[in-house]
This record gives sequence, structure tokens and C-alpha cells, in this order.
Amino acid sequence: MQKIPILDLKPAYDELRTELDAAYHRVMESGWVLLGKELEAFEFEYAASVGAAHCIGVANGLEAMQLVLMALGVGPGDEVIVPSHGYIATWLAVTHVGARPIPCEPDPLTYNLDPARLVALITPRTKVILPIHLYGQTADLTAINAIASQHNLFVLEDAAQSHGARSHGREAGALGHAAGVSFYPSKNLGALADAGAITTNDPTLADKLRHLRNYGSKVRYHHEYLGLNSRLSELQAAFLRAKLPHLAAWNARRTALAARYLTQLAPLASAGHLVLPHVPAWADPVWHLFVIRTTRRADLQAHLASAGIGTGIHYPIPPHLSPAYHAAGWKRGDFPLAEQFADEVLSLPIGPHHTADQIDAVCAALHAFYAGARS
Ligand SMILES: *Cc1c(COP(=O)(O)O)cnc(C)c1O
Repeated sequence: MQKIPILDLKPAYDELRTELDAAYHRVMESGWVLLGKELEAFEFEYAASVGAAHCIGVANGLEAMQLVLMALGVGPGDEVIVPSHGYIATWLAVTHVGARPIPCEPDPLTYNLDPARLVALITPRTKVILPIHLYGQTADLTAINAIASQHNLFVLEDAAQSHGARSHGREAGALGHAAGVSFYPSKNLGALADAGAITTNDPTLADKLRHLRNYGSKVRYHHEYLGLNSRLSELQAAFLRAKLPHLAAWNARRTALAARYLTQLAPLASAGHLVLPHVPAWADPVWHLFVIRTTRRADLQAHLASAGIGTGIHYPIPPHLSPAYHAAGWKRGDFPLAEQFADEVLSLPIGPHHTADQIDAVCAALHAFYAGARS
């Protein structure tokens, strides 16, 4: 039986062995491992690819967002609006600066933060709106930016899943005032360890972030701010430079596989068995994940596993029901859409190194499941 893993990092190395090996040797020969030429070059190249004026490499996506909030002076007594449906890292960035995450329910079609629910959540304490471009598709930043500018709020994008995604032709990472990016190995642009970055057009903010990531110091042993140690290493920057030129082609492969899924699974959606991803006309997603919804998830997941097909759940427990947030006092029923989606979402294999045949096999297994079950 052919195994179809949800994620396999080895084929990317097979494809880019020459470039990645050269990157490794360049750094080893240089004898310089932190805050050097590779990082500087990657920051320049990544900013250009996004269409942002500045990029600041940091240690990971969580700290990218935390550092922006620190730079803005967001802290105790402040509120930051976050998606109720998404990854907990976005919330943790807010909690770690001492501010309060205010969850906003998703648009039921796109799963992204619903701008129509935003205004009701804004209070005099609100400082920032922090939407995620979830599963590789941009949130509706046109609507979110309009509300933010009316209320004088800062828009920070969580662009961890959306490298290369577009909204109205503009890149994720350059749609708000600043963006936090993750290069965790499984992302569309992944390093070979933890890594992250911030993109922004604001030169003052960029300058402050360069110091905040390095102990708040401008001149060695002179500390202006209470900073973090959050740096993107030369080695990871060199690996990312090797991969960045391939990102567009890899995203195009993901898009072709997503189209295959959408065509072949359409009859199951029409029959009411499952819900397929919805793409608004203005969005160009990069399919970080291909997420369907089903009320029979456990059975379907077991059926696919028995056919050798790996799946994932992104994410099984909404942040507000996580034990980590117990003290905040949220309970089941507070965010019904986030709770429903946590119970129903299922991620099917998709990546630049999956083949059309593999996608066809996943679709066949889904059809077999629903034919056999006749539910
Ligand atoms: C991966 C991810 C993060 C966290 O990034 P790390 O680099 O792992 O800290 C944050 N938000 C979202 C939506 C993510 O997918």
C-alpha cells in the first residue's frame, strides 16, 4: 500500500540539495553565525518578495508578533482582537505582553476573522487588530483596514501560513501596518529549525524592532529597551535564501493540487457529506493546508488512515477552551463557530511534493468512504 503522508520534509531537500548544501558550506566557511551577511541579504530579499519596505528576521513567528506588540507599547489594560478560530500562538503573543486577547468569531465560509463582527468588539482599550491569514488564504484586510482606520487601530497580520498569498493582487505581509511571519519547517516557506520575521513599511517601527530582537541594544552593551533575544541565525537565513526563489513554483503546485481536490470532491460537497474550502474572488490563497469539514471526522480519519493516508486537525481545541487560558474564564458556548469548526475540520495532504496521483488516491478514498457509509 502506498503511504501518503500529510507532511514530508525530505523531498524538498532532494529537490534543492545543491543549493542547500552550498548554503550550509557558505555559512560554515564564513565563521559567522548570528546577525551577519546572510540575514541581511535574506531580509532584503524577503521584503522585496512581499513588497514591504522592511524585514526583520527573528527567532520564530510567536516572537515576531510579540515583538511588534512590545514595540507598540501594548501591555496590561490593553485589548487586542484575535480570531477565535486559529492557532494559539497568535493569542500567546498578546498574553505574553500582558494585554488581553479579545476573540472574534470567523466568517463561516472562509474561516477567517469576520469583519462584520469586529466593530462590536472595539472598546476604548482596543489597540490592535490581529487577523490570521488562515490555511494560506488572506483574511478580508480591505474591510478590516477600513474599520481599523476609522477607530485608529493598528493592524498586525499573522502571516505564518500565507507566504505568497494575495488579496486584491497584494501580498500577505504588506496588507496591514506590520506582519508576523513564521518559517517553521512545515510552513510554505520553511527553514530547517525555528525561524521567523516581521515585515512592515514603517521605518521607525522597523528600527525599534531591530534593537528589540537583540536585547534592546543599539550599541553593544548599551541597552535602550527591555528587549528579547530573538534572532534568525545565519544558517537558517542561508537555507531560506536557497528556498525563497522556489516559493512561487511550490505555491503554484499546491494550487494545482487544490484545484484537483475541489473538482473531484465537489459531488461529495453537493451531496452534503462535507464542506469544501471557499475562495472569494479577490483572494489568491497558497493552500498551506487543504481543510474540509465533516461531522463524521473520527470515522473518516480512521478510514483514510487505514488506506495509508495521513490527515491532520488544525486545530482540535480552540484557544479559549485550552487549559492554558483557564484563568481567563471562558467556557464552552462562548464562541460557537470556533467550537464547531474545531470539531469538524480535517486537513488532507497537500504540499509541493505531493503528486496528482496521490491527490486522486485521497479523493478515491473519500468517495469510497461515503459510498460505503451512504449517510
Ligand atoms: C506556525 C504559526 C505560528 C507560530 O509560528 P512559530 O514560528 O511556530 O512560533 C503563529 N500563527 C500561526 C497561524 C501559525 O500557523
